[in-house]
Amino acid sequence: CGIVGYVGGRPALSIVLDGLRRLEYRGYDSAGVAIVDDGVVLTEKKAGKLANLEKALAERSGDNIASGTTAIGHTRWATHGGPTDRNAHPHLSADGRVAVIHNGIIENFSRLRAELEATGVEFASDTDTECAAHLLAAEVRALREAGAAAGPQLLAEAMRRTVRRLEGAFTLLAIDVDVPDAVVAARRNSPLVVGRGDGENFLASDVSAFIEHTREAIELGQDQVVLITPAGIEITGFDGEPATGKEFHIDWDAKA
Ligand code: GLU
Repeated sequence: CGIVGYVGGRPALSIVLDGLRRLEYRGYDSAGVAIVDDGVVLTEKKAGKLANLEKALAERSGDNIASGTTAIGHTRWATHGGPTDRNAHPHLSADGRVAVIHNGIIENFSRLRAELEATGVEFASDTDTECAAHLLAAEVRALREAGAAAGPQLLAEAMRRTVRRLEGAFTLLAIDVDVPDAVVAARRNSPLVVGRGDGENFLASDVSAFIEHTREAIELGQDQVVLITPAGIEITGFDGEPATGKEFHIDWDAKA
């Protein structure tokens, strides 16, 4: 229901958690985060209030979840699969190398799930969302096998190939262990805004998530993919053609 992404030079976890807190008014039943750090994707997700997630995060030790500088965060309003820890987002690919969060409903998920299961993929949740994580990882692998170099462009292309197979309404954000300084996102029939910072960039379902950090925003158009890195924001259509969003300045006061 609420979506936040960050890439830049600062520890991402607290920025993403603050953003999720600003989206709490929308209502939700679970919350979770994923961070890329040093060759791993670290996740934590919990049913219930953000406080449950924060408690679980505080109890972790021995990893860099609090210091990584690329993160995505989600508050869920369950549509497919009950409000449990395992159904909370992010959802990981089977190899744990890609993490995805999603607002909306993937209408053709049961067909996609059956197709993936037929290739041996084991699902870890009852959500419609999880098929997007497996599809994205498969597209990343296929592009790598075809000789493409790992990096932000490969991840964006894999996202475009993935969303072309999805029907329904979705805002999707993803991170990839091989692309530690990027978040890729896509939208169809569901909102997504980019916040332009200085050496850092933000993604959210609603500008209130990042308004304390930047007032420069870009609203994505229908069927667009955006790739954010600390230095850049790159928008294309689902077809890969360069595209532009609607740039605007947020001039209202931030809510406390
Ligand atoms: N359909 C997804 C789920 O049930 C996402 C729901 C949402 O928008 O939070 O997990």
